[in-house]
Amino acid sequence: MRILVIGGGGREHAIVWALQKSERVKEVFCAPGNAGIAQLAECAPIKVNQFDELIAYAQNKQVDLVFVGPDDPLAAGIVDAFEAAGIPTYGPRKNAAEIEGSKIFMKNLLRKYNIPTAKYETFTDFETALAYLRQQEAPIVVKSDGLAAGKGVTVAATLEEAEEALRSMMLDKVFGNSGNSVVIEEFLAGEEMSILAFVDGETVRAMSPAQDHKQVFDNDKGPNTGGMGTYSPLPHIEQSIIDDAIENIIKPTAKAMVSEGRPFRGVLFAGLMMTKNGVKTIEFNARMGDPETQVVLPRLKTPLFDIVEASMNGTLADLPIEWSDEAHVCVVMASEGYPASYPTGRAIEGIAAAEAQGALVFHAGTATKDGQLVTSGGRVLGVVGRGRDIAEARTRAYEAVSVINFEGAHSRTDIAMKALR
Ligand code: AMP
Repeated sequence: MRILVIGGGGREHAIVWALQKSERVKEVFCAPGNAGIAQLAECAPIKVNQFDELIAYAQNKQVDLVFVGPDDPLAAGIVDAFEAAGIPTYGPRKNAAEIEGSKIFMKNLLRKYNIPTAKYETFTDFETALAYLRQQEAPIVVKSDGLAAGKGVTVAATLEEAEEALRSMMLDKVFGNSGNSVVIEEFLAGEEMSILAFVDGETVRAMSPAQDHKQVFDNDKGPNTGGMGTYSPLPHIEQSIIDDAIENIIKPTAKAMVSEGRPFRGVLFAGLMMTKNGVKTIEFNARMGDPETQVVLPRLKTPLFDIVEASMNGTLADLPIEWSDEAHVCVVMASEGYPASYPTGRAIEGIAAAEAQGALVFHAGTATKDGQLVTSGGRVLGVVGRGRDIAEARTRAYEAVSVINFEGAHSRTDIAMKALR
């Protein structure tokens, strides 16, 4: 098997790494990839939205299968494009990826099928939205409808802050057309968790849950980022809560997508809030999370390729899938200034020493310049420690972080503390 992975972040590094564990995978290609992925796969400098170039590259390399990592190309129909070219592709088609691409589509779907989520209203007109907002109470949440690189959500502590968010989305168009429509929804209090699932139509095979840390600073302070660290499993969360989420949210959603004529094949990611009234949906993503993937895939004992193949063949329901109990903690090392503007091109040292300690180091924003590994993005590395329990995995992750250096490196110091308190 020759497989092309689309994307170039830490998630794709983990995907390439996991796919290569199968003896049946002969060669992996990646576009655009990064410096870490280039150690495992041939990388081509093609952007994820250049469908024609990607298809030509896949044909040239005679790949048997394409695996799509990020949300943007899925929402733009990359799976449909590859399928039209006769190349089997793992990921949801455009009409199914809309579950992430449009929050209004997602919220209306959940409402129609009675799947637990925050109460909400949707708006396309600023004045109407403002009038509605002024009748609500804070805290309240304002979301732009379309993809906004993870930044289209404002959890507002006051109505003034919510109004400001509404103005910048709908009038100032800070997220472009993504803000033409907005969702205003109820604030859900509680602890968050992410459950990823391999889904093929109505078949749902849930992965072990993970928890992300969105804000840039310790104690969940500062602006939201793509994710500063994750851990899995979640020993402090009862299995009954996880089962509740799978049975009452993820499975009914997969079924609803089939009923809507938009069967989902790929990884469905549920962002969930454990409220005192049960688990509720915050969002769905149509792909693996980053950095959830970096702690979940290493725990997968069954080769990832076998799961993808079973999904493509319609036999996912029958495949035995095994997980390791080993705890994994991922600490993201980010560039100085991230998530605002940040410098690039800073030399990175110490990865080999971290790996020699047993850590897994997944590259996100890295490149090679004149033979030297350098930073090239906001999130630079995902450093994963493994252990018998979260405490041990966490210690090992931070030991590994301490031997890796680049100027201005920033990471949170409290990843996975929620599991230990
Ligand atoms: P989203 O992009 O929809 O996942 O939202 C980003 C983050 O905003 C989530 O991970 C939550 O921390 C927060 N959030 C979104 N919706 C709500 C809500 N209704 N109540 C509380 N927090 C929320």
